[in-house]
Amino acid sequence: MRLIFLGPPGAGKGTQAVRLEEHFGIPQIASGDMLRHAVIERTPLGLKAKEYMDRGDLVPDDVTDALVGERLGMKDAEKGFILDGYPRNVHQAEFLDEVLEEQGARIDRVVRFEVDEAEIIARLSGRRICPVCDSVYHVVAKPPRTEGVCDLDAAALLQRQDDTEETIRHRFEVYHEQTSPLIQFYELQGLLTTINAMATADEVFDQLRAVAGESR
Ligand code: ADP
Ligand code: AMP
Repeated sequence: MRLIFLGPPGAGKGTQAVRLEEHFGIPQIASGDMLRHAVIERTPLGLKAKEYMDRGDLVPDDVTDALVGERLGMKDAEKGFILDGYPRNVHQAEFLDEVLEEQGARIDRVVRFEVDEAEIIARLSGRRICPVCDSVYHVVAKPPRTEGVCDLDAAALLQRQDDTEETIRHRFEVYHEQTSPLIQFYELQGLLTTINAMATADEVFDQLRAVAGESR
């Protein structure tokens, strides 16, 4: 099962990808997580990406294509994957098609997470992440057991640098300008399913299980 999660920042893609990863045993491939680790580790790629990420702009395609292309070649991605945050423009979608074609594979379904801007601001301003294991929390909707501490590895939780209201609004614009054309791109291929991502996390997961069941 090869899935793409498409939707604006804060729609809940990462939260659901982790649940689906556990449920179906296929890896979440999150370009944003991979880039944040490259920034923390100060790799050449991370140093190049940082300024774009801090502004809320897309990093150049050659950076994300290299990262995701390499990741898709790994053993655990053979049986399927959930792409979370990639592709984010038409060039990336075409690059992905080429990589998969070389592997004799194809995307089974693209899930579009539909959510409004006010909800996104509420979700992203309360988001906290674990810099070690990438777990995602929310101060109200999904608080950790101990305030400010990851349930899984006890690391101190962080607020992402790009989760400020100004940068959130910019990322939402970038989504509309550069990423939303992918809705039509995949609709024309008959691959798109839209889900209501305004619902609770459990309800969204139920919708996804139904979609994944249909895609198997
Ligand atoms: P994305 O990966 O699409 O950017 P996240 O999964 O990181 O989004 O979710 C953004 C924030 O919203 C997180 O703080 C997360 O805990 C919270 N969240 C995710 N899904 C829901 C939901 N269905 N209802 C309320 N809050 C949610
Ligand atoms: P995310 O964790 O998905 O919200 O991504 C955080 C940031 O990483 C984005 O605002 C971009 O700067 C960068 N990023 C992640 N994925 C991509 C991608 N596919 N293409 C370009 N930039 C990306």
